[in-house]
Amino acid sequence: MNAALNTGTAQRAASYYSASLNDQTQYPTLQGTVEVDVAIIGGGFTGVASAVELAERGLKVAIVETNRIGWGASGRNGGQVTGSLSGDEAMRKQMRARLGDDVDDFIWHLRFRGHDIIQQRVARYGIDCDLKRGHLHAAMKPSHMAELEGFATEAMLRGMGDQVELLDREGVRRHLDSPLYLGALKNQRNLHLHPLNLCLGEARAAHGLGALIFENSQVLEIIHGPRPAVVTAQGRIEAKQVMLAGDVYHKLEPGQLKGKIFPAMGGIVTTAPLGDLARQLNPHDLAVYDCRFVLDYYRMTADGRLLFGGGANYSGRDSRDIAGELRPCIERTFPALKGVPIEFQWSCAMGIVVNRIPQLGKLSENVWYCQGYSGHGIATSHIMGEIMAEAITGTLEQFDTFAGCSHIRVPMGDLLGNPLLAAGMWYYQMLEKLR
Ligand SMILES: Cc1cc2nc3c(=O)[nH]c(=O)nc-3n(C[C@H](O)[C@H](O)[C@H](O)COP(=O)(O)OP(=O)(O)OC[C@H]3O[C@@H](n4cnc5c(N)ncnc54)[C@H](O)[C@@H]3O)c2cc1C
Repeated sequence: MNAALNTGTAQRAASYYSASLNDQTQYPTLQGTVEVDVAIIGGGFTGVASAVELAERGLKVAIVETNRIGWGASGRNGGQVTGSLSGDEAMRKQMRARLGDDVDDFIWHLRFRGHDIIQQRVARYGIDCDLKRGHLHAAMKPSHMAELEGFATEAMLRGMGDQVELLDREGVRRHLDSPLYLGALKNQRNLHLHPLNLCLGEARAAHGLGALIFENSQVLEIIHGPRPAVVTAQGRIEAKQVMLAGDVYHKLEPGQLKGKIFPAMGGIVTTAPLGDLARQLNPHDLAVYDCRFVLDYYRMTADGRLLFGGGANYSGRDSRDIAGELRPCIERTFPALKGVPIEFQWSCAMGIVVNRIPQLGKLSENVWYCQGYSGHGIATSHIMGEIMAEAITGTLEQFDTFAGCSHIRVPMGDLLGNPLLAAGMWYYQMLEKLR
C-alpha cells in the first residue's frame, strides 16, 4: 500500500451543522494503490454505517468520498430518527410472497432497528451528536388522527404502550405552543440528533477499527472481475468486494442503475438562538412532523434554535429562496416567531425511488449497491448498513428479501424522472386535500 497523506480541496456544504461541528478531521485524498477487503463508494450514513459494521466483523475496509464525510443528505438533513419507513405498504405487498405472514413482524422490526443501532453506536464509541428522545407526529385534520390511532393500536399490541401516547388538541398544546394541530402521536422511542456529528463520529469509529477513509476522491469507474477495483483520478483501490453507497449523487453504472433513483431537493433553515422562548414553544424538546404527504418538520437544536424544514422540490434544482419559502410556514406554526431572524439556510438532494422501497442489489458477483430511502434515511441507512455487512460476509437472508423486490426503471430517467415525480407528488397533494 502506498497511499500518500495529501488532503484535498473539497469543502463542507454550508449549513448550521457544518457551523457546529465537533470533529475537524480531514481525511487524505486517495493516491496510489490500496488493497482492502471491501471498498465502499460514498461517505454518507450508508457507506459509513456499513464500514463500521464490516470493520467490527474484522474486515479491512476503505471508504472513498468525492467531497467530505457527511457532505450529502446525511450531513444536511432534519435529524429526525423515526419509525416511519418510506414504502412500507409497497414492501408489505412485495415481501409477502417471500415472507408469508411473517412480513408484518419483519416490517415492524425494521421500523425501530435503526434506532437501536444508532443508540448502541453512540454509546459504544462516545459520539457527541446531541442525541435526544421524543417525537410528535402531528395531525392537522381528522383523517390524520385516524391514521395515528391505527399506528398507536399496533404499537400497543407490540408492547410499546409505555412509549406512545395519543394527544388531543389540548394535549398537543401542552407540548407545543402552536395553534395548528388537532392531535398528535407522542413517541418516546423516536430520536433526534445532529446528523453530521453522528456521521463524523461513526467515521471516526470506523477509522479507529482500522478502516481507511479518503475524502476529495471521486470514484470515476468500478472495474468488475474476480478482483474488483475502484478508480479515482489519482488512485485505485483493489478489493475483494465493492459496495456502491453514493445514493442520488453518483452517476456510476448507468447501464444497470440509470432511471432507478431521482433527486428531490429539500430546504431547511435555522433561526437565531431563541433563548427561553425555545422552551416555551417546545417544553419537552420534541422533534415534530405533521401527517401530510409533503410535510413540515422541525425541532430545537442544542443551542436553542428552531431548525425547520419543509416542502420538497421535485424539479431536481435548488430553491433560490429557502428562507422566503419557509418563513410563512414557521410563522403559521409558531405565531410567536413572527419576524424571527433566520441565520442559516441550505438545501440538499435526497434520493427518491418510485415505489419507495430501498434498492439493494448486486451489479456483478462481488459488487453491491444500496440506495434510495426516499426522505427517511437516518434509521434506514443504519439498518441497511447491517443488512449489507451481513450479506457481504455471507448471510444473505435479509438482503435477498430486499433485492427480490421489483423496481420501476424510468426510461430516459434523466429527462422524464423528475417530471414524473412532480406529477406523482401533485397527485398525492390532490389526494391530501380530499382525505
Ligand atoms: C433536506 C433533507 C432532510 C432530510 N431529513 C431527514 C430526517 O429528518 N430523517 C431521516 O431519516 N432522513 C432524512 N433525510 C434523508 C436522509 O438524509 C438520507 O436518506 C440519507 O442521509 C442517505 O444517506 P446515504 O449515505 O445513502 O446518501 P448521502 O448522505 O447522500 O451520501 C452519499 C455520498 O456519496 C458520495 N458520492 C457519490 N458519488 C460518489 C463517487 N462517484 N465517488 C465517491 N463518492 C461519491 C457523495 O458525495 C455523498 O457524500 C433528509 C434528506 C434531506 C435532503
